[in-house]
Amino acid sequence: MRIFSGIQPTGRKHLGNYIGAITQYVAGQDRGDAIYCVVDLHAITVAYEPAALRESVYDTAATLLAAGLDPDRCIFFRQGDVHEHTELCWLLSSVTAFGDLNRMTQFKEKSGSQRELVSAGLFIYPMLQAADVLAYRAHEVPVGDDQRQHVELMRDVAERFNARFGDTLVVPEVRIPEVGARIMDLQFPDRKMSTTGGSEQGTVLVLDDPKTVAKKIRSAVTDSGSDVVRGPDKAGISNLIEILSAVRGVSPEDVEREFDGSGYGGFKQAVADAVVEYLAPVRERYTELRGDEARLETILAEGADKARAIASGTVADVRRVMGVGPVRRAR
Ligand code: ATP
Ligand code: MG
Repeated sequence: MRIFSGIQPTGRKHLGNYIGAITQYVAGQDRGDAIYCVVDLHAITVAYEPAALRESVYDTAATLLAAGLDPDRCIFFRQGDVHEHTELCWLLSSVTAFGDLNRMTQFKEKSGSQRELVSAGLFIYPMLQAADVLAYRAHEVPVGDDQRQHVELMRDVAERFNARFGDTLVVPEVRIPEVGARIMDLQFPDRKMSTTGGSEQGTVLVLDDPKTVAKKIRSAVTDSGSDVVRGPDKAGISNLIEILSAVRGVSPEDVEREFDGSGYGGFKQAVADAVVEYLAPVRERYTELRGDEARLETILAEGADKARAIASGTVADVRRVMGVGPVRRAR
């Protein structure tokens, strides 16, 4: 069983990424052949600084290694190092429907918040994402809830490709966690916590110091009630319940039962304490790993070699069945 997922190096990663995606990546190493990449080519679809991008790739790589990715047990690399992704993206464009791309919620949301340019890259982002996954013939894609639609699109692309050119690509399944698949911004609990679009106070960064983490959680926006229960008109409290449940590995019902009658103040403090404790070891390991850029570069380069060995086979097959390039005997 092959698992693939990617994460953007835009800014620093947050608690939503950690709970919704990164913990699944770590667990994936025990469940199958896991392949993960830092998607620098996706990050350039919104305004960015070239020098900062390179630094952010190291930040993100060190964060993932600190969380428990082990280069001996997974393939971990930088997307831009494996040119097969961009070539496959173009080849897949012939079986990607413009109308489907046009329906994507992420494009609608992100294009609305761009101050200068809405790039074509932002529009075709899900096509590159399809190439990322399909290049490895992955069976499973661990992501947060917001990426469900993009995985649906890549499944359509793979199915259309196979129908048009013959069975070549694996149609992947989405894997979304039961709890914590959509952690909300603490200040705007109707929006997901986001690397690029969130509020500063409402976004708990994996690398925030304990005081900052606790302050952000204690000042989370909640309703005027006092019952620690989930509900449609209680987005803020529901989010905190979900966070505590994910961090402790218990069900949201357990959290509601434990804090029945305790009021919001005590509950928020308990969430703050739990998250601080949850992130502390990651932050410590991060500092150590981030200090050695040469080692990070070696890990990413070795990962890219392994990734290329797989992706180049898929691209060769795709070119062959599509009639691109010289005739070659089937591999
Ligand atoms: P942006 O908002 O700029 O797209 P992001 O915060 O979504 O950034 P990504 O690198 O795009 O970060 O996402 C990495 C992974 O984290 C994806 O699998 C995504 O589904 C997941 N994820 C992102 N935000 C959340 C969230 N608020 N809750 C749970 N999972 C999330
Ligand atoms: Mg995202």
